[in-house]
Amino acid sequence: MTTKKDGPNDREKKYHLRTRLIHGLSHSKRWDYDHHVVPPMTVSATFRLDSAKRGAQGFAEFAGADELTPSHHPIYIYDRLGEPTGGMLEDNLATAEGGEMALCFASGMAAISAAICSLAKSEQHIVAHKVLYGCTFSLIENWLPRIRIESSLVDLTDANALRSAIKPNTRVVYFETPVNPDMVLIDIAEVRRIVDQINARRDPKDRVWIVVDNTFATPYCQRPLELGADLVCQSLTKAIGGFGTDIGGALIGPKSLYHDLILYRKDFGGILSPKNAWNTLVYGLPTLAARMVNYQKSAMRVAEFLQQHPKVKEVHYPGLKSFPQYELAQRQMCDYRGHFAPGSMIYFVIKDTKGDGDAAEHFIDWAATNAYTLTLAVSLGQIKTLIEAPYSMTHSSMCDADKRARGIVPGGIRLSIGLEDWHDIIADLDAALEHA
Ligand SMILES: *Cc1c(COP(=O)(O)O)cnc(C)c1O
Repeated sequence: MTTKKDGPNDREKKYHLRTRLIHGLSHSKRWDYDHHVVPPMTVSATFRLDSAKRGAQGFAEFAGADELTPSHHPIYIYDRLGEPTGGMLEDNLATAEGGEMALCFASGMAAISAAICSLAKSEQHIVAHKVLYGCTFSLIENWLPRIRIESSLVDLTDANALRSAIKPNTRVVYFETPVNPDMVLIDIAEVRRIVDQINARRDPKDRVWIVVDNTFATPYCQRPLELGADLVCQSLTKAIGGFGTDIGGALIGPKSLYHDLILYRKDFGGILSPKNAWNTLVYGLPTLAARMVNYQKSAMRVAEFLQQHPKVKEVHYPGLKSFPQYELAQRQMCDYRGHFAPGSMIYFVIKDTKGDGDAAEHFIDWAATNAYTLTLAVSLGQIKTLIEAPYSMTHSSMCDADKRARGIVPGGIRLSIGLEDWHDIIADLDAALEHA
């Protein structure tokens, strides 16, 4: 029988991913696992180097492809370049998403900006879906133009819109699926087919990269890299972190992007603190599967309840048979065992029965003060059910006309299902809807 000491080897590969998220790599060159059941948190900003030669070797090896081989013994120099706790989390995130490498960042936005700004530069262009997380929208609309990266925001559920948006200088196609907040799905494999046709006619250095924000689904419900994405973004703050204690982000993708991304992270400086990495490594990622199984079970019950409620105009949850992209949802959103995994996020629109446009506000205000299980707060993927109004909160960086044109209406409510007993969530929603 092999023991943990026999590593590094591939022995954990025969275990289910759900199991591997709990144990991580059975042997890591990042740290000696032999005596720690829980990985250690290190809080040393700088590292002692035994000799000038070893110091020089550490700098020479930094950002090299060798750093990604399992037998490599890292020479740690300074936390901003790389450190053990974040490194162990990166190994496990790469496993979770099925990628060759992962890099952690200070936040989801630090990861997203690193992805876009290392794949595209001045005088180049990116295409993104027309509905995006509010700060990603603001990054693309307000900051990228300052460094002369142009963008086109189009409907990426429409293959022709994507084809005609790609220009000779386009380098990135960027989207979320499910989209925050309206739960629209974008067919990753279809985007891959279109981008492959375009890349086939291009010099490889001018290729278009597909970047997918997988925050809503998490790798438990969807692995974009398997479906054709080049690079995945995660806000670790959300369901991967899981407990709402820490902000963090990650990029997961091919080894070929490692060099540029780690240099970008070193020089722009948006590193994940080892203390935040530790919480995600020890509490968040290992419990992702267990939490998601429960979130999903409750989300389905809540979505069914909302769907039959007379005050609810529409419910967008990929698990409902009435979901307009149900067939795509079943194809694209699958857990590690291949079962349909529609996730924990629901978007629904409240009917404006009084005609004053305030039904959603009455609903939210009542829930915020009276409903024990519904917490009015942004963010998502925590153990508590969170509720918010994207029109006036998370997506307020878009102007009214843009929001309405994109279907983000004042009556829209985003629900992130938590671990409470679903009967209680439904009872509180029912009571709050009486006040809508
Ligand atoms: C929250 C979120 C982000 C940003 O992540 P931070 O960790 O808050 O920077 C990006 N994309 C989506 C879909 C999000 O929900």
